[in-house]
Amino acid sequence: MRITAVRARMVTVPAEEILPDASGRPVNERPIVTLRIRTDQGLEGIGIAFVHGGLTRALVGMVEELAELTIGADATRIEDVRAMLRAHAANLESCGMFAVALSAIDCALWDIKGKSAGLPLWKLLGGVRLRVPAYASGQLHRGLANADIARVAGQVRARGFRHVKFHLGLDGAASLEREVERAWLVRQSVGKDVKLGCDVNERWSVGQAIAIGRRLDEIGLFWLEDPTRADDYAGLARITGALSTPIMAGENNGGLAPFRLMLEERSVDILMIDVMNVGGISAWMKVAAMAEAFNVQVVSHIMPEFQAQLIAAVPNGLMAEHKDWTFPLFDGIPGIEEGDFVLSERAGHGLSFSRPFEHLT
Ligand SMILES: [Mg+2]
Repeated sequence: MRITAVRARMVTVPAEEILPDASGRPVNERPIVTLRIRTDQGLEGIGIAFVHGGLTRALVGMVEELAELTIGADATRIEDVRAMLRAHAANLESCGMFAVALSAIDCALWDIKGKSAGLPLWKLLGGVRLRVPAYASGQLHRGLANADIARVAGQVRARGFRHVKFHLGLDGAASLEREVERAWLVRQSVGKDVKLGCDVNERWSVGQAIAIGRRLDEIGLFWLEDPTRADDYAGLARITGALSTPIMAGENNGGLAPFRLMLEERSVDILMIDVMNVGGISAWMKVAAMAEAFNVQVVSHIMPEFQAQLIAAVPNGLMAEHKDWTFPLFDGIPGIEEGDFVLSERAGHGLSFSRPFEHLT
C-alpha cells in the first residue's frame, strides 16, 4: 500500500477548560500541527504534533518535510519508514523536535494499518482491556488558592473521576510545612474514596523530595510524579528507595534511551510515556515492553484520545491522563464512564477531524 499524498497544517485549537500550564500561565488556545497521509488504496491516516510554548512554525515545517519523504513508501512498513526518516535527520535522529515530528507520521501510519486490518489500535497492538482508568489532571493546580480547593475538588468529583491529580512544588520559597498542609487540604477536599496522585513538575531537590515525601507517605498517594529533575536517574532512585509512595517520571523523556536508564537505575516505580516525546506509537510500545520486563507499569501523558488505546493494549498499562487539550480537533474521542475511558471498535485510532477543523487540516 503506497503513500500517495501528505498534508501538514497548523491550526489553533481553543481550550475547553482554561487552566494554567506547568509554568503557571493560563492557556486558552493551542497551536497544533495536523497531518493527513493518504494511500493508493483510499485509506487515510491522521496524526498530530505540538510543542509546549513556541516553535510550532518550525514543527510544522519538520512534519511537512519528513512526511513528503514518505510519498511512494509502503504505508504498512512503519519501521522501514522510520529508519528512512531517522537517516534523513542524521544526528538528530532520536529525540527533541524530531521525535515529536516523527510521532505525527508514525501515529498516522498506525491509523492506516489499523484501518487496513479492520481493527482498533487497542486490539491490533495487544487487546488487553476495553476500559482504561482515567485520572483528572490540571484542575487542582498549584496556582489555586487554598480557599478554592474544596470547590474545585467538588467539581472534579462531580464529573465521576475516581483518580485525581494535584500539584505540589508550590510557588515561592520551598516550605515543607506548606507543601504538606496543601496535600492534606486536597486529601480532605476530595474525600477518602478518590485516589489521589501528585505532580511536582521537577521542582524539588532530592533532599526536599525525600523530606516532604516521607510526610506525604501518610496520605496514601497513588503516585508522586516528577519529584525532581527527570534526568537525575540516581537521585530519583534515592527518592524511590526512601519512600513507600510510588514514584513516577518519564513524560519529558525523548526517545528510548532515557527510559532504559530509568529502568536500569530503578529510578521509578511507574513510567510515564508521552507518545510525542518518545517518537510515536512504535517507540511507545517498545518502552512499555521494556518496562514490563522490569516489572514496571506505564501511564500515558496527555493526548488520551491516542494513548488510552495504547494503555489498553499492553499488560502493564495502568491509567491514562485525562487532558482535553486536543479534544475539539476530533470526532471519536473515547467517552468516560464511571471514571474510565471506554474504547470503541472503530478501526485505527478511531478519530477523524471534527467539522470545525475539517477544512483547515
Ligand atoms: Mg506531569
